[in-house]
Amino acid sequence: MRYEGKIYRPPSEADAFILQATVGCSWNRCVYCDMYRDKQYRVRPLADSLADLDEAARLAGDRVDKLFVADGDALGMPMEHWTAILARARASLPRLRRVSCYAMASNVLEKTDDELLALREAGLSLLYIGPESGDDETLRRIAKGSTHAEHVAAAQRAHAAGMQISVIALLGVAGTGRAREHAEATGALVTAMDPEYFAALTTTVVPGTPLAKQSLRGRFELPDIRGMLSELRTIVDVARPTNALFRTNHASNYLPLAGRLPRDRARIVEIIDAALGGRIPLRPEWSRGL
Ligand code: SF4
Repeated sequence: MRYEGKIYRPPSEADAFILQATVGCSWNRCVYCDMYRDKQYRVRPLADSLADLDEAARLAGDRVDKLFVADGDALGMPMEHWTAILARARASLPRLRRVSCYAMASNVLEKTDDELLALREAGLSLLYIGPESGDDETLRRIAKGSTHAEHVAAAQRAHAAGMQISVIALLGVAGTGRAREHAEATGALVTAMDPEYFAALTTTVVPGTPLAKQSLRGRFELPDIRGMLSELRTIVDVARPTNALFRTNHASNYLPLAGRLPRDRARIVEIIDAALGGRIPLRPEWSRGL
């Protein structure tokens, strides 16, 4: 398997085979993100991706049931690459039950309805979309590249094609100055995108990123732990998805939570309140990760 640079995948894809069919992120501008800053975006040659799939099939084909296509916005890959990769995966991985990738809202919106349908029929079943915030002003400040409304439209088009979506929010990304607007609008965005999965991560100011520079110049202040938990409480309290599996199991979070929304909302809010009141321990700073 030929991997270039550090490979990122969602926690729930820890047991998936990761195929790096693209390198880096075609956008690469979100101010908090340093995942692919050292990579020049490109689509890998199709022959290389197919050779990696063949090798995975040879080594562990009877065990692979999940395939995650990397890197940062792999949905933007041309259709001919997607259809060839999905066809080869179906043919060579007999136990395959899920294919997923990261997607920006623009990646979804740039594909036609027929293309999205063709991808779903070929096996792409789950998109991880990270608006991070539902607040348009925050989205502008973090250079997310898409608005609240565009994320809703992307979710609707993915759902119309039969795909599931996992929505990712980022606690603290609006700084102390806009935390309330960020949290309320993010809860509303989760309602409107109506994902099957919803995860919250916690912002880390990574040295070298534009956010770190803003922070050094005093233009961005990360909320403290209490502030992060308050945002999480508001988001969970406001969000009204139909039936979403909710998790904060990412290593960046102070408080690992799991449940279904809206079913477990009251229980989750109670746990957050207990954490805010100091009645349950938080993940220590030293064991947090990006
Ligand atoms: S779209 Fe994702 S991978 Fe690309 S810069 Fe933004 S957060 Fe990073």
